[in-house]
Amino acid sequence: MSKTFSIIKPDATKRNITGSINKLIEDAGLRIVAQKRIKMSKDLAENFYGVHKEKPFFNDLVDYMTSEPVVVQVLECENAVQVYRKVMGATDPKNADKGTIRKEYALNIQENSVHGSDSEDNAKIEIDFFFKDNEIVG
Ligand code: ATP
Ligand code: MG
Repeated sequence: MSKTFSIIKPDATKRNITGSINKLIEDAGLRIVAQKRIKMSKDLAENFYGVHKEKPFFNDLVDYMTSEPVVVQVLECENAVQVYRKVMGATDPKNADKGTIRKEYALNIQENSVHGSDSEDNAKIEIDFFFKDNEIVG
């Protein structure tokens, strides 16, 4: 079993579709072993998306991620990182496969409803950033 880190983003919490997204997550065999609703501060969002600091979309991305609450989650299954990337679909919903979260729910390339870690190493870093060990119940 392995874990990945997920964020249900502001466009989704705002539209009250966190349950619909969790259904796609659970239907794919991922278990939600930790979950909480938080409001990201500017500092936290800038830190979290630090790898994109030089990108033209960085400031918009930080404004968006701090615009409404988000739901942060730890998901568990075999190959959790890859499984969840597949369930999310491509970054731009125009390119996302049918049945994926982003195809079904994302509004555009920025407001794309979910984040998922892109590697096992980053999953560990991101989980440690948001959760204490005793908050994760497998
Ligand atoms: P995430 O890291 O959120 O799981 P991802 O790995 O599919 O998504 P990244 O390339 O890491 O995509 O980009 C991080 C986030 O920045 C995207 O999910 C999206 O919200 C936003 N983003 C990425 N590319 C663009 C773009 N060209 N224009 C606007 N926003 C973008
Ligand atoms: Mg990414």
